Amino acid sequence: MSKLKPILLSTAFALSATPLMAQEEQFITIGTGGQTGVYYVVGQSICRLVNRETAETGLRCTAPATGGSIDNINQIKSGGMTMGVAQSDWQYHAYNGSSDYEGEPFEDLRAVFAVHPEPFTVVARADSDIETFADLTGKRVNVGNPGSGSRGTFEVVLDAMGMSMDDFALSSELRPAEQSAALGDNQVDAISYTVGHPNGSIQEATSTVDATLVEVAGPEIDALIADNPFYAKAIIPGGMYANNDEDTETFGVKATMVTSAAVPEETVYQVVKAVFDNFDRFKGLHPAFATLEPEEMVADGNSAPLHPGAERYFREQGWVE
Ligand code: GLU
Repeated sequence: MSKLKPILLSTAFALSATPLMAQEEQFITIGTGGQTGVYYVVGQSICRLVNRETAETGLRCTAPATGGSIDNINQIKSGGMTMGVAQSDWQYHAYNGSSDYEGEPFEDLRAVFAVHPEPFTVVARADSDIETFADLTGKRVNVGNPGSGSRGTFEVVLDAMGMSMDDFALSSELRPAEQSAALGDNQVDAISYTVGHPNGSIQEATSTVDATLVEVAGPEIDALIADNPFYAKAIIPGGMYANNDEDTETFGVKATMVTSAAVPEETVYQVVKAVFDNFDRFKGLHPAFATLEPEEMVADGNSAPLHPGAERYFREQGWVE
């Protein structure tokens, strides 16, 4: 009897209409960011939902910490990762071969869906006399780690403001997980992070030392928004962080899920299905997801073509034509 069982089981699988068979395990990796950011939670949350269906789909998902957007896009390109989270500005540049991707477009980059908004965020020690971005001149500033979208966008803002790294007394490249402690320890006057709110990193920065969110606005920023479809005005609401009761005006991008055309349609379909079939559960996994609406996640922030697996799910839901 015991010898018959596997044969019967495999017959059942052979007859099943499920394209991915349970015995064919497929490992997928989602690139995130630092552990104190929101990307890490995006990746972990998606994997949690995907892994609930492993028996059915064969997909096993992991979401390690990474250097952020640009690192994720590059790892998807090299085949080291299946999917990743990336800022909408870096999705645009990677696909179109502009900015840091000048001359090397990643034509197989594919959009999956947009997630939460990410305001460009600068936090300064209250004792540093920094009220606007221009006040960073002569100060010690953490500009972020290379490979992060945050660092890339910081350089774009510097350029737009007619400033450069040489204008700072110090420009450090600490990762998100290290920078809040450096602000508290008075190793830097200000930190920068393009990130969803609220998040653990800015919470740590504003609760360990008297620190304020810095306004990033003015004609240079207005021009940046006018010239680039992936930038928009953004507000970090007052009352979200300790000692920051007023709204902070800045600009921002969207976090987006991206993948490669080389990833099979069925794989991306199953990941998208796991998220949107369990959308209330997904939204409950981080406060930055609280305002997400499926229709906006399909329409906003994507400049690369939609991956066919995502498109199939969205069409089934009537969210795309
Ligand atoms: N937007 C950041 C980046 O691409 C990451 C933010 C996060 O980890 O939540 O570097």
